Amino acid sequence: STATLTQDTVLFDLIRQENERQTHGIELIASENYVSEQVMRAQGSVLTNKYAEGLPGKRYYGGCEIVDQVEQLAINRAKELFGVEWVNVQPHSGAQANAAVMLAILQPGDKILGFDLSHGGHLTHGSPVNFSGKLYKPSFYGVEPETGLIDWQKVKETARREQPKLIICGASAYSRDWDYKALREAADEVGALLLADISHPAGLIAKGLLNDPFAHCHIVTTTTHKTLRGPRGGLIMLGKDFDNPFGLKTPKGELRPMSALLDSGVFPGTQGGPLEHVIAAKAVAFGEALSDTYAEYTQQIIRNAQALAKGFTDRGYQIISGGTDNHLMLIDLRSKGLTGKLAENTLIKADITINKNMVPFDDKSPFVTSGMRIGSAAVTTRGLREADMERIVSFIDDVLMHHDDETHIGQVRRQVNEWMQQYPLFKGAE
Ligand code: PLP
Repeated sequence: STATLTQDTVLFDLIRQENERQTHGIELIASENYVSEQVMRAQGSVLTNKYAEGLPGKRYYGGCEIVDQVEQLAINRAKELFGVEWVNVQPHSGAQANAAVMLAILQPGDKILGFDLSHGGHLTHGSPVNFSGKLYKPSFYGVEPETGLIDWQKVKETARREQPKLIICGASAYSRDWDYKALREAADEVGALLLADISHPAGLIAKGLLNDPFAHCHIVTTTTHKTLRGPRGGLIMLGKDFDNPFGLKTPKGELRPMSALLDSGVFPGTQGGPLEHVIAAKAVAFGEALSDTYAEYTQQIIRNAQALAKGFTDRGYQIISGGTDNHLMLIDLRSKGLTGKLAENTLIKADITINKNMVPFDDKSPFVTSGMRIGSAAVTTRGLREADMERIVSFIDDVLMHHDDETHIGQVRRQVNEWMQQYPLFKGAE
């Protein structure tokens, strides 16, 4: 009964409050989105009760006949969505996917080359506070100070100098597309493997709106919860499976393919039982992403990001690299005399959520920062379009220009709340 379902009033009241927060405000965090009701239903299902170590058809537990079909459905849909030959849908998150890949193909102490965290890279690409920087020897490439763009020739030079075993591309805050072909040339020259972490733009890549990483990168990882609009989770993919270059063999003396190394990097390498309820929700999201409606959604994400970029530029804000090709942008607030911390803390008072972010060559700490990162994936799901982006920018600018005027910010908040009431989220979200 409903009574037993919601007996824990303390917890369910918190969920109700969070639902309200998500509904009342404007969500501009570039890594967030709103999943559909059926994604939430799948994730909140009895599948959470099941242990299923192993892979479909090869489990270490009995009773896996149904979850095998669930996981196989997720695998088949992911393969179709990205046009790839092989996928592992079990990583619990993007960080887990990267950990599994590195465990599978590297030895402790091996050299890796990633995109600098402070230029927009991710912690798992070699940061000293992360496993990737502790277990492996990282070096980094970054953007050019004048343009905010990556110079692909310089990446090649860095690779030649550093001789990494793995080159990682992909980012959390880079608004431009990637030259996977040039990166593959860099990798081939030094005998490295190339990993693309497409966590942020995965949905745009699936729909062919950005360069194709699968044609050039040996391995591709992603999260499933950003532009892809699925549950929080990760994936590992191979455009084509290939013989592993490390000579690892089966007990029968056969060379194990890369897919087998990666499977064992996930389990037993870095995870235990897969989260079949999350995998079910991934299957639902992939099914949704195969639709024409989702294709239209991803195109609107880019149109909205460009409208946001134009709105900010028109008001004298400086966007790193001057614009965006994808769903996000990084704005340097120094020309406005503001910090990222102040912007984040002020905008939240108007129920506008963004995140503070380091800008390339930032002189402030990660707790303060000189920038803010803004993305269009969530507001696009909400149903907002280009003209609405102009209104969002005007609210943001208004709040930031009146950051010490609580009354003024309160007025903007009321307008935001009233506006967002016209864009209800899913009824069953609680
Ligand atoms: N890789 C990139 C490029 C990301 O942006 C993120 C998330 O922010 C991750 C990996 C990690 O994903 P998760 O938070 O699911 O571990």
